[in-house]
Amino acid sequence: MPEATQRISEIYQQVVERNPGETDFHQAVKEVLDTLAPVLRQHPKYAERKIIERICEPERQIIFRVPWQDDQGEVHINRGFRVGFNSALGPYKGGLRFHPSVYLDTIKFLGFEQIFKNALTGLPIGGGKGGSDFDPKGKSDDEVMRFCQSYMTELYRHIGELTDVPAGDIGVGAREIGYLFGQYKRITNRYESGVFTGKNPSWGGSLVRREATGYGVVFFLEEMLQARDNSVSGKTAVVSGSGNVAIYAIEKLQGMGAKVVACSDSGGVIYDPEGLNLETVKQLKEVERARISAYVKHHPHAEFREGASIWDIPCDLALPCATQNEIDEAAAKKLVEQGCIALCEGANMPCTPEAMKVLEAGKLAYGPGKAANAGGVATSALEMQQNASRDAWTFEHTEERLHDIMRNIFRDCHNAAEEYGEPGNYVVGANIAGFRRVADAMLAFGLI
Ligand code: GLU
Repeated sequence: MPEATQRISEIYQQVVERNPGETDFHQAVKEVLDTLAPVLRQHPKYAERKIIERICEPERQIIFRVPWQDDQGEVHINRGFRVGFNSALGPYKGGLRFHPSVYLDTIKFLGFEQIFKNALTGLPIGGGKGGSDFDPKGKSDDEVMRFCQSYMTELYRHIGELTDVPAGDIGVGAREIGYLFGQYKRITNRYESGVFTGKNPSWGGSLVRREATGYGVVFFLEEMLQARDNSVSGKTAVVSGSGNVAIYAIEKLQGMGAKVVACSDSGGVIYDPEGLNLETVKQLKEVERARISAYVKHHPHAEFREGASIWDIPCDLALPCATQNEIDEAAAKKLVEQGCIALCEGANMPCTPEAMKVLEAGKLAYGPGKAANAGGVATSALEMQQNASRDAWTFEHTEERLHDIMRNIFRDCHNAAEEYGEPGNYVVGANIAGFRRVADAMLAFGLI
C-alpha cells in the first residue's frame, strides 16, 4: 500500500518546513519515520489520529537566559534549554547536555530519540532533554557552581518528580548534578530526591547509575552476538570517547574478556595494542579532568594520534561512545572492510544516515543507540523507584535489574524486527517497538 509511504514522506516534509535549519532533528526524525510505514498499514488508527504528526511536535519547549559571573567578575550570558517532548508514558525524562555546540536543534534531536528509548525500557518515563551552550571545560568548580545555580534559578519552575526529571549527559556529571540539585532544593524548600537522577549515592542516587549506560551497551552487544552464536569474549574492541559511557563500556568489555585497544577525546586517539589500562583512563578523565593524550606519559608503548579517526584501527567490535555523527560513510566502510562483526552505539545517533546504509549492507550486527544505550535512562528510572520508596538497593541487585532490562529490550527489538519482516534489523525493531508503546498510550488518552 503506497499511501503509508506517501503519508510518511509528507509528514517528514512538514517537519522539515516547520523546523528550518534543524538538521540533526530532521535526521533523527527521518531515521524513525523511514521504518514506520508497515506499522501505519497495520494500524490505520495511528494515521487517523495523527499520532506520528503529534509525536514530532514537542509538547513544550523552554529557552531561557543564563547569566553568570566568572572568577574575575566578568559577566557571561549563556542560553538554557529544556524540551518536554512526550509525556504519554510518564514524566519527561532525559539528560542535560552542557557543550558549546548545543542549540535547540541538538536538544530536539536528543529529546525525540529519548521518547522511543525510554519507551523501550518498559518503565514509566516520557521523553525530554535539555542543556546549554555553556562549556564546563577549563572552568573552575566555583564557575561551574555559579552557572548551575543560575541555570536552575529558571529551570526549577518547569521540573518536578511528577513533571520532568533531568539527569546528566555530555558535560553534566555528578559535580553539576550536585550543584543543580542543591539550588533546586534551596529554591523550592523541598528535599525532592526524585526530581533529578544521576545523584551521588550518598544523597539519594542509585548505585550502578554511573556505570549503567556503558554496562548496558555491552549487555546489549552480548545479546546480539549470542543470537549469532558468538560472544564478546576474546574479541578486540575499539571504543570512541573517554567519558562516562566509554569508561564503563570499556570496564564491562574487559570484564567479559575482550581486549580494548583504543579510546579517544576531542583532541585525538589513544591506540594501545596491549589493551588499554582503564585505571589510567579513569584517573585522567574522572579525577584530573585531563586530556587523553596524557595517557602516553604513563604508558610510553602506546600511541597518541592527534586529530585522527579512531575507526581506522582494525577491530571486531566497534562501540561509538562519543557523540552524534562521529561515524560517516568512509568510517563505516573502513570498519566493514577491516572485518568488524558488530557495532553497538553508546552515543546518541553516532552514525550518519550514509554510514547506517553501509552497515546494513555489510551484514554486521548493528545495535542502535535508542536500544543499546537505554541502560542509562533505565537505571535512572530505577533511581526514581528507590527515591519514591525511600529505599537504596545493593549494587548486585541493581545491576541484575539493569541486565534484565537490557535482555528485554533486545528481545523486544528482535521480535518486532521479525514480526515486520526484517529479522536481525534492530533499527527497525527498536523504532517500531518503542513507537507502538507510545502510540498506544497516546490513543488511550484521546486528542491531547
Ligand atoms: N543522557 C542519557 C541518555 O542519553 C540519560 C538520561 C537520563 O538518565 O535521564 O539517555
